[in-house]
Amino acid sequence: MYYIDFDNTLYETGKLTKDVLYDFSKIISNSKNLDLNEVLEILKNSFNSTVDNFESFGCNLATKYGLKENIFKPHLRKIILENGKKYVFKDAIDFLEKLNKKKVEICILTYVAQKKNIEQQALKLLGSGILPYVTHVFNTTKYKFELQLDYENGIFIDDSPRDLEGLYKAGARNLIRIKKPNNEKRTSKNLSLPIEIPTFESFEEIEI
Ligand SMILES: [Mg+2]
Repeated sequence: MYYIDFDNTLYETGKLTKDVLYDFSKIISNSKNLDLNEVLEILKNSFNSTVDNFESFGCNLATKYGLKENIFKPHLRKIILENGKKYVFKDAIDFLEKLNKKKVEICILTYVAQKKNIEQQALKLLGSGILPYVTHVFNTTKYKFELQLDYENGIFIDDSPRDLEGLYKAGARNLIRIKKPNNEKRTSKNLSLPIEIPTFESFEEIEI
């Protein structure tokens, strides 16, 4: 079984955040006749991707700027659901297809920091178009290395140093690190592990 992380491994989460914040800023600046770049700067500085989700962030913005409570919702759905496929890395889809052809089971193992973000994560997964390729989806608020999984026999692909180190401690030995460009926060970190693990920028380089 391949256990594959979602954000920043299969999915360009940073790009999604950028698009959503830009869209929200446009709505605010148009409705309130404010400078787009100034609004965008404010939004960028106030959004915390680890704990916030776009919907509650949008509701707070609506209150702050005196807009209709649900003004951002249809835009958000359009970006995440209708246009969600554009955030999936092309090489990642090819890789999932390859695993499918070899009849290898895939489990998406995705962590969100808070329960309130589970729904948004489910929408991202749905919009991404990857669900037909996978057998299981674990969308969890528990750390990945605290779940009841077959750590020893699974192959784990992830970009997060915290998760890779935790998975190792839980008994996983088949670990693959993905280092995508524009993911500076995680790619810049050295792993604190007693073994070297294969590290790739693209799924094309991974042999199944
Ligand atoms: Mg990730």
